[in-house]
Amino acid sequence: MRAVVEVNLKAIDHNIKQIKSLTKSEILAVVKADAYGHGLVPVAKQALTSGASWLGVALLEEAFALRAAGITAPVIAWLTPSGEDFASALKQHIDLSVSSISLFEEVLGAAKVSGIKPRLHFEIDTGMRRGGVLDEWSDFLAFAKERSQEYELVGVWSHFARADEPDSTFNVEQENNFELKLADVKLAGLNPKIIHLSNSAATITNPAAHHVMVRLGIAMYGLSPDVNTLGTSQDLHLIPAMTVKAKIHLVKSAKKGEAVGYGGTAILGEDSKLGVIVMGYADGLPRSASNIAGVLHNSKKAPLIGRVSMDQCVVDLGADSTAKAGEYVTIFGPDGYSADDWGKASGTINYEITTRIAARVPRIYT
Ligand SMILES: *Cc1c(COP(=O)(O)O)cnc(C)c1O
Repeated sequence: MRAVVEVNLKAIDHNIKQIKSLTKSEILAVVKADAYGHGLVPVAKQALTSGASWLGVALLEEAFALRAAGITAPVIAWLTPSGEDFASALKQHIDLSVSSISLFEEVLGAAKVSGIKPRLHFEIDTGMRRGGVLDEWSDFLAFAKERSQEYELVGVWSHFARADEPDSTFNVEQENNFELKLADVKLAGLNPKIIHLSNSAATITNPAAHHVMVRLGIAMYGLSPDVNTLGTSQDLHLIPAMTVKAKIHLVKSAKKGEAVGYGGTAILGEDSKLGVIVMGYADGLPRSASNIAGVLHNSKKAPLIGRVSMDQCVVDLGADSTAKAGEYVTIFGPDGYSADDWGKASGTINYEITTRIAARVPRIYT
């Protein structure tokens, strides 16, 4: 394999157990976006083995893929626009989230067709102004009450906008708003069993917000929700599960003063050995990390030199490198450069770095 994503399932196991030491709440493992690039089904199975009791995905097709793999644990799909195949979702016992009266009606319509009572979660917008019921709230509740025989209310939930800023009073505002809305739900005579609010950051920093279940994403993958405010993976006793490796295609000696790559954006300051690595932006390496991030070869850092190309990039191995063509370098992982380093180098976050590693890079599991 010229490039590979190695996923350490033992790290996933460790990370879930680490988080379980911080909370008594049930754990929903967030496996959307191909499990943040780690692979939907293997991660979902490991998460359930390691103590998660629920799975969460954004899209219905992700939930279908879990069911197709024989996974029977509770699954919520929380981002289902109008027009999705809700009847199939109900037949496959997939919990749905509703955040508007029109979507609610559409799901109840699908329920009539399929003859299956939907298991629903109400999403409330408590401040993020992304998903969730906001201005419709009282009409939504009236509708929910009127049609309460037609569905099972499993959960009520919301999402933090700034959980990675634990000192922000905005979190308190959202929690207070959530409590008020929960009181409204109860006043309407509805009794959700699973209240869920916290993502990884809130699970790590805010025990008061854990409720019945936490939705664990990035921390399960061994990465920090925000290295600046919450510390690194290591600080949080998490182990990054993803290691990305690629082969050296060529090693060549180049001279001081020579320009490397498209646009000649890097000029060699010394005579050096260059390594041409068989991985580029088509594989998900951000081009914006050009000249900033780097790779690890034999425990030695080799910085990117010149621009990241579509299928390859060039690193400065150093004049006395013994690297040979065909050997692997580590692009990022628990040692050397991290997903955080690549994120910082390209103006993004570790979430995006792992998630964007392209499907053409095979995943292997250890
Ligand atoms: C992605 C997502 C999460 C997980 O967030 P992390 O920061 O990765 O823990 C939780 N809840 C919802 C609704 C999400 O979309």
